[in-house]
Amino acid sequence: MGSAAWQLAGITAWIAQPRLWPPIVAALVADHVVLTAAGFVPRGRWLGPNCDRLPAADRQSDEVALTFDDGPDPDVTPKVLDLLDHAGARASFFCIGERAAAHPELVAEIARRGHRVENHSYSHPVFFSMLPPPALKREIMRAQDVLTAASGQLPRLFRAPAGFRSLLLDPVLHSLGLRFVSWTRRGFDKADGDALRVAQRVAGQAVAGDVLLLHDGAPARDHNGRPVVLEALPRVLDILAAGNLKGVPFVVNTTSGTAL
Ligand SMILES: [Zn+2]
Repeated sequence: MGSAAWQLAGITAWIAQPRLWPPIVAALVADHVVLTAAGFVPRGRWLGPNCDRLPAADRQSDEVALTFDDGPDPDVTPKVLDLLDHAGARASFFCIGERAAAHPELVAEIARRGHRVENHSYSHPVFFSMLPPPALKREIMRAQDVLTAASGQLPRLFRAPAGFRSLLLDPVLHSLGLRFVSWTRRGFDKADGDALRVAQRVAGQAVAGDVLLLHDGAPARDHNGRPVVLEALPRVLDILAAGNLKGVPFVVNTTSGTAL
């Protein structure tokens, strides 16, 4: 990675030429700022591979990935599962480890109904992208253990809290056999209580290969106080059906290699 080499070169130059430290430190700080900023672009690829679309080799021509974050939630997840069943759609659920530990039966149910359970960290820390590697690894491994035990599936994908990442994350994911996944379109259903708008935003322009993001954990409430995702999801599924698109889990085969 160019930046790592640049940081190393800077530090080496600093040791060799202590009197040059002001410009060298300025350059290193600037580089660090750029890297940190890069981590706040969820669909960016500067800090490592990022699956924000279903790889063409791994999908049928009518498939769109449906993904749900931040669950499981006993008030929302079972209803999301019923809506998906009703439409014959399948999805990936990026679960938070500590919520999965509190509701392992919901995680088991997600898997039993034919969906994928994936890793969304253990405690969903606000400053996830600022964590040092040992803490990143703890967050991801702890979630991995809980989710594997509850679902009987080994999660293969990781989505960072809020999608934010750091330069340090990719080696950790690699060591655990996980791939970083973001999204193509999101509903903003944690902030917007208007189900029509959420559905239109996430699915209105959807095309095959897109990765759609909604939330079964802590979604916004509509004007009736209902979780907005429960009103938006049937519309999303109708929009997809009208476009001859099918909701599927995000599954990546090994044949896709690193060309993501
Ligand atoms: Zn999240």
